[in-house]
Amino acid sequence: MEAKTPSSNFIKNIVTEDLASGKVREVVTRFPPEPNGYLHIGHAKSICLNFELADEFKGRTNLRFDDTNPVKEDTEYVESIKEDVKWLGFEWDGLFFASDYFGEMYERALVLIRKGLAFVDDQTADQIRETRGTLTAPGQESPYRNRSVEENLALFQAMREGKFADGERVLRAKIDMASPNVNLRDPILYRVVHAHHHNTGDEWCIYPMYAFAHPLEDAIEGVTHSICTLEFEDQRPFYDWVVRECEMKWVPHQYEFARLNLTNTVMSKRKLKQLVDEKAVDGWDDPRMPTISGLRRKGYTPEAIRAFCREIGVAKSYGIVDERMLEHFIREDLKLKALRTMAVLQPLKVVITNYPEGQTEWLEAENNSENPEMGNREIPFSRVIYIERDDFMDNPPPKYFRLFPGNEVRLKHAYFIKCEEAIQDADGNVIELRCTYDPETKSGSGFTGRKVKGTIHWVDASHAVPAQFRLYEPLIADNSDEEGESFLDRLNPNSLEVLEGFVEPGMKDSSGGDKFQFFRHGYFNVDPKDSAPGHPVFNRIVSLKSSFEV
Ligand code: ATP
Ligand code: MG
Repeated sequence: MEAKTPSSNFIKNIVTEDLASGKVREVVTRFPPEPNGYLHIGHAKSICLNFELADEFKGRTNLRFDDTNPVKEDTEYVESIKEDVKWLGFEWDGLFFASDYFGEMYERALVLIRKGLAFVDDQTADQIRETRGTLTAPGQESPYRNRSVEENLALFQAMREGKFADGERVLRAKIDMASPNVNLRDPILYRVVHAHHHNTGDEWCIYPMYAFAHPLEDAIEGVTHSICTLEFEDQRPFYDWVVRECEMKWVPHQYEFARLNLTNTVMSKRKLKQLVDEKAVDGWDDPRMPTISGLRRKGYTPEAIRAFCREIGVAKSYGIVDERMLEHFIREDLKLKALRTMAVLQPLKVVITNYPEGQTEWLEAENNSENPEMGNREIPFSRVIYIERDDFMDNPPPKYFRLFPGNEVRLKHAYFIKCEEAIQDADGNVIELRCTYDPETKSGSGFTGRKVKGTIHWVDASHAVPAQFRLYEPLIADNSDEEGESFLDRLNPNSLEVLEGFVEPGMKDSSGGDKFQFFRHGYFNVDPKDSAPGHPVFNRIVSLKSSFEV
């Protein structure tokens, strides 16, 4: 799956041309997250795109934290982002912070002021917004727009020295209030924010706006192809204006692609943070979260995520990807790798009345029926076993081939057993089955005497390891996207189901991140946080089958 040649896309074509024409000598890309939350699967698409593009052309990729908004940013996020990028399998060339360049950005703002291309505005943010005009009507020029260069220099310095409170002054570009592109109507370059910054501490009380900072960062780092999502398309003229008017030596270019959207999935850090803050989930790495850390904890592998990102490709127009496609890739990745074992999620005790008391035999079981190289293991079998509660029915409907009184089934890797009697408690619940087994029918013995229609899984009771199983459904019940404010009201109350059951003894000491295919149940991952010695917790990654094929 990994070996698949990366398919072509429009950005790759641009890079190929730029190298051929000599416009660039080396490809330099960057992944520029804002450290205000954990990365999600949408970011994975951007990470794969940037790193794989540079890799393919033997170029470089920087990891750059776009930390220009001190109020929302935190080192916890910085660390998690680094971990996630590494885990996905990528190595950055340079590790940078936008805040490393605050000094240079300030100097570049001075260049603009001296050229008469920036001015300090006394208007409030609301006033500035209200006078911006609309798509059809031009905006109004600020009454402070024609201040002298000297006055602007002095005021900007005063902003920097902390002489103004938050919101009292801003530095604005002086471009064109009548521009059809609203982003060119004297956009704000700097604002006053008296806040502690995770990297620069209290050194600054003015911070550059993202749209001003980003092109400067790219130019400073010598980025050749600055790839971002489509929302920034209308920002491109301002991006180019900043690079040009700030007289940056290196001229980077911005290219836009469509962001990833997945069905049934909230994909915005702001909303994911809300889920965490309101404790609707167990942190950023809750396996129900579409975060990289959540997917990792659920049991996704970097290989599966990379293959998924490659498959969805890079488009110029919006679409919504079926989440089953992501599931397809983890099944593909684990199919031949995961040990295939048995787990009983909702146990029902079965006594095999004709099996000798006190005897245990060890049966041969293949580890992966599709990959013989994984060899065999031995599993115990004795008089008392557990089967799945819903593999028995007292009054089964037609075509029910599992256990019911008088019926015979095959126990995977073991024998045929026949249900003789169901024992009920005072309330009429079945609490135990009495069965008999036929020693002639041992798995692998070549028995052909008769056939049974059902094969069920089981775990030997005296050797069984108690385990917890966590089954997931989408966090958001319906299939609507993230429009509308009430997404917290649409949470699926059944997104997590917790069951206590048993696994085979060989899985007793499995450690966090180990992955298994449980016969008939799907793929599971050992939860790295909540598993205890002798009591593993298994997160279901995905069930066995899907109707979806790519
Ligand atoms: P969110 O809206 O989820 O908070 P963001 O765009 O604000 O995401 P950033 O930290 O600014 O998050 O994003 C870092 C990079 O990841 C940007 O280049 C951005 O374009 C890209 N990115 C973010 N979300 C997606 C997505 N859903 N699909 C593809 N790329 C994305
Ligand atoms: Mg952002």
